[in-house]
Amino acid sequence: MTTSADTREGAPVASSGRVRGPRKGTDLGQWKISGRTPLNHNEEFKAEENSLAVQQRIIEEYSRTGYASIPSDDVHGRFRWLGLYTQRKQGVEGANTSKLDAESLSDEYFMQRIRLDGGQLSTEQARVLGEISREFARGTADVSDRQNIQLHWIRIEDVPEIWRRLDEVGLTTLEACGDTPRVFLGSPVAGVEKNAVIDPSEELAALREEFIGNPEYVNLPRKFKTAITGSPTLDVVHEINDVSFVGVNHPELGPGYDLWVGGALSVAPRLGERLGAFVSRENVVPVWAGVCGIFRDYGYRKQRTKARLKFLLAEWGPEKFRQVLQDEYLGFELPDGPAPERAVGHSDHVGVHEQVDGNRYVGFALTAGRLSGDALVALADAAEAAGSRRIRLTPHQKVLVLDVPEDNVEGLIEAVQPLGLHAKPSPFRRSTIACTGIEFCKLAFVETKGLAARVIDDMEQRLTDVEILTPISLHINGCPNSCARIQTADIGLKGQYIGEEYVFQVHLGGGLASTDREEGGLGRTVRGLKVTADDLSDYVERVTRTFLGERQDDQSFAEW
Ligand code: SF4
Repeated sequence: MTTSADTREGAPVASSGRVRGPRKGTDLGQWKISGRTPLNHNEEFKAEENSLAVQQRIIEEYSRTGYASIPSDDVHGRFRWLGLYTQRKQGVEGANTSKLDAESLSDEYFMQRIRLDGGQLSTEQARVLGEISREFARGTADVSDRQNIQLHWIRIEDVPEIWRRLDEVGLTTLEACGDTPRVFLGSPVAGVEKNAVIDPSEELAALREEFIGNPEYVNLPRKFKTAITGSPTLDVVHEINDVSFVGVNHPELGPGYDLWVGGALSVAPRLGERLGAFVSRENVVPVWAGVCGIFRDYGYRKQRTKARLKFLLAEWGPEKFRQVLQDEYLGFELPDGPAPERAVGHSDHVGVHEQVDGNRYVGFALTAGRLSGDALVALADAAEAAGSRRIRLTPHQKVLVLDVPEDNVEGLIEAVQPLGLHAKPSPFRRSTIACTGIEFCKLAFVETKGLAARVIDDMEQRLTDVEILTPISLHINGCPNSCARIQTADIGLKGQYIGEEYVFQVHLGGGLASTDREEGGLGRTVRGLKVTADDLSDYVERVTRTFLGERQDDQSFAEW
């Protein structure tokens, strides 16, 4: 049921501009100004010890004594530094969430997030992950929209063995969650893409080497997200990261990066801003340290709802931010630089593409990011049979296989199709992403991934009479936190519980810079337009047909 007959009816409310800094005159908990006295419980337990101490405790104690023996600050707090979140107790409805505490909502199992910086996986690593999934995670393995793999149903007793196997193949879960430098998003086609502005592989490796587990940067006010790309398709959603390095050609200085800071979504979305500064290859590490250092030292630690870097940027503005970065953290001035230029090609990299060395990379769409342990093992086998050793995950919940000789491409495509991997997907299979939802997430109101799969199937059956040349993005969230980036989708859906009904609030017309639109923009909340899960396919079909019927020339969804 929709509460509005017209798909676009209702007063649009801009989603942008809602980010405001805390009230002036209050103690904001900024280390450089207020000192380091912890002003809330999270800050207290973060100050007490670091992730390595917790890791030892899991290995030596909790894995033997079991879930019930773990203190709350560890299980619901410090464990996140190791990528471990408690999983939602099965059968607890979303409406109860606000009335229950974390302990009541959790069962004794964990989600284990494995950080894959740049989405990089060797076939050997994919096989080990698949085997871990089959043995310890009931076969689960979801691809997140931050290039991670997420396992579910993990028991604390099995965590040391999982870490041992991951470590053997060079994988880690360190700082995969929590108030830390999360996984570094990186172009999944770095080093192989034709027409790339710059190959960021060395810079990404240096960031990993310098900063994962670096004690200077483990205790941040909130999570800190990084992205780096040299792709002209702008493929790392750079506008919604705390710091982003985007490949540009400086007219005098050559290839390097344009610096963006302060992007983030959640309930108070804000796109990142350019500082107008050019970052050379050798300055990526010090500039990252400076931006993260500003966040650590000046970030607002008193209220967690105001702690992301975007709030500080909203207060300072880009000019002051750049000045503080240069004066207090770098000790030198960054040259001015150009803005990134958009080029031909879709940033999800789905389909078959020629590499710089003449081989091909092949991008596959999943169904709303759902993979499995069996599929990971079979994908590794198929990639190797096609002559590849390299797999990549993308920030659009897609999977790429690199380095495929041209003659082996069709064989690979056929081999992985039964795994649910599509190189020529339908428009909605390609452009639908969904967050974890109520299946496992404690904050969710509604189910998401199964619903996304159903809507995709329905659109494939119903929209056979129309041609959708540019996929219409459909992003589905189980709650307002926006893990599936609803404000940056053509159609964004936010799970809510209103008036004793589970519904999706509709957002329309958002998008990020890619070939789909000139520049990123946040969608508008369509006031009064709520859709239930049962009516979602009807709604998506109706809005799609209306758009295709009304659009002028090649007008985009956002321009419509
Ligand atoms: Fe959970 Fe909400 Fe994030 Fe979905 S958007 S994964 S429901 S916190």
